[in-house]
Amino acid sequence: MRIDLHTHSNRSDGTDPVPELVAHARASGLDVLGLTDHDTADGWVEGREAAEAEGIGFVPGIEVSCRVGTTSVHLLAYLADPAYPPLAGELARVREGRSGRVPAMIARLNALGVAITVEDVLAEAIGTPSVGRPHVADALVVAGAVADRKEAFDRYLAEGRPAHVQRYAIEPGRAIELVRAAGGIPVVAHPWGRGSRQVLTADMIARLVADHGLAGLEVDHQDHDAADRAALREIATGLGLIVTGSSDHHGLGKTDHDLGVNTTAPDQFEALLARAKASAAASSASPPEAFLP
Ligand code: AMP
Ligand code: ZN
Ligand code: FE
Ligand code: FE
Repeated sequence: MRIDLHTHSNRSDGTDPVPELVAHARASGLDVLGLTDHDTADGWVEGREAAEAEGIGFVPGIEVSCRVGTTSVHLLAYLADPAYPPLAGELARVREGRSGRVPAMIARLNALGVAITVEDVLAEAIGTPSVGRPHVADALVVAGAVADRKEAFDRYLAEGRPAHVQRYAIEPGRAIELVRAAGGIPVVAHPWGRGSRQVLTADMIARLVADHGLAGLEVDHQDHDAADRAALREIATGLGLIVTGSSDHHGLGKTDHDLGVNTTAPDQFEALLARAKASAAASSASPPEAFLP
């Protein structure tokens, strides 16, 4: 069983349409695909239909934008009801913040001498309710200002670079509680990727478990080297957390993140499904089920 539980389609900042992502997953030898677009469940219906047609498993998820101070933290919400009002309201607020910051980023780029408009960015984000920096990066590529997404982040868009603008995001403890109340399973994405290593200490992770009900850690991710993975696995084991692994595939939008490059062990996937069943039973929301052929 090859299980990849964290991928993006063009409903957020991946480049594959959902049916192509699912077909690509099957062609890559995956048995189960998790679709986790940023702050939206938009691709779920199409994803499940495509998975049924392709004969592979499908786990609906959302990668929820969180923040600790000024540091971005991502929370994978598996099998949560996206229509549960408190969660739906927060996700809508995050998406509004995504769209709302685009003019400020454009103003900064213009001040830096880069000729680019809000419309140029929106043209790169057609069909997604979740506009992100990668769409700004794509517009910069089209404008000839940079060669690729990576150069756009390195020069302009990464935290600390001149066109970076903060947007609304959820406090992780609160996001974890919302996901659980919506009948889902909260797993911290790439805990030691980029800046989040500084804030997601072993103590902080333990608090997210004890005080809020965090259920898992994404240990096997391209942002983690072998030492990170060993240390995170030890933390997860000590806290009784589910351990996941995934590609964080973004289509052509990110190199070195091919589907299945990291996978989740079948016993950990079983544990996630079992906890999801219990979470759903305890919830007043209407969470979806995983599709398993
Ligand atoms: P946003 O949702 O606007 O905060 O942008 C986050 C997306 O940008 C995620 O998909 C990341 O993979 C990508 N990203 C964030 N930082 C970088 C970076 N330094 N280089 C390339 N991609 C990045
Ligand atoms: Zn992304
Ligand atoms: Fe992420
Ligand atoms: Fe991701």
